[in-house]
Amino acid sequence: TLAAEDVHAWFGDHQVLAGVDLVMAAGEVTALIGPSGCGKSTFLRILNRMHELVPGAALAGKILLDGEDIYDPALRPIESRRRIGMVFQKANPFPTMSIYDNVLAGLRLTGRRVKTRGKDSEADALVEHSLRSAGLWDEVKTRLGTPGGSLSGGQQQRLCIARSLAVRPDVLLMDEPCSALDPTSTRRVEETIRQIAGEVTVVIVTHNMQQAQRVSDRCAFFLAAEGQPGHIVEQGRTDDVFQRPRDERTADYVNGRF
Ligand code: ATP
Ligand code: MG
Repeated sequence: TLAAEDVHAWFGDHQVLAGVDLVMAAGEVTALIGPSGCGKSTFLRILNRMHELVPGAALAGKILLDGEDIYDPALRPIESRRRIGMVFQKANPFPTMSIYDNVLAGLRLTGRRVKTRGKDSEADALVEHSLRSAGLWDEVKTRLGTPGGSLSGGQQQRLCIARSLAVRPDVLLMDEPCSALDPTSTRRVEETIRQIAGEVTVVIVTHNMQQAQRVSDRCAFFLAAEGQPGHIVEQGRTDDVFQRPRDERTADYVNGRF
């Protein structure tokens, strides 16, 4: 379980988030929704310590992973990022690297040595397991040596999910993972998200209200009023947020009125 407690964020003098409290429970998919610029991507970067890499960025509040502060100076940032993976809007496999090596690329970045294909059964098993979890195995099992860049957009996105899963994260953050995909690929990625939800805590940012309803258990609606920092207006079970919103602004947003 990942918990944000009273999170505030700034870029220089510009405050972009204020008082964000959110619990993202293990085994659940949490969707973050809200208009452009309200701070959703910033919030995701805070959740895996990428915010601190942005020049001029500041942060207040706490992020707890199973009760442990991920900003604890004793915890190396690379370890936080291993436990909290991220998948981006634009799939970013290494295009000339093989599918097989792409899946293992995250392990190399965290400093673990991995042997090559066919010579290390442990690595082979990890690649197969990760690709199966990402719903891609059947499509690529006969072409693991071909470049990641040769896959379709939807396949590349699932390859990126497999790459994230290979390091066995506790949490997977996804920032608009389907916005560049056609409807069929979108459905495949959504199936993947539902499948992995049992193993990892998933947090997904989406502008697609149908998608939020299809994939998420809980939902948080972010809003930044004119000149104000972003905050959560309403959060709860996805059904409640969509069918029985308590705030008029939530009702307007989920019904496409702004
Ligand atoms: P979208 O739905 O369009 O992706 P978002 O909700 O993800 O929007 P963010 O990207 O988190 O919004 O941006 C929140 C605010 O922070 C915006 O006003 C944005 O201009 C500002 N911002 C984001 N990154 C930076 C940065 N590196 N430096 C300065 N301001 C930034
Ligand atoms: Mg964004």
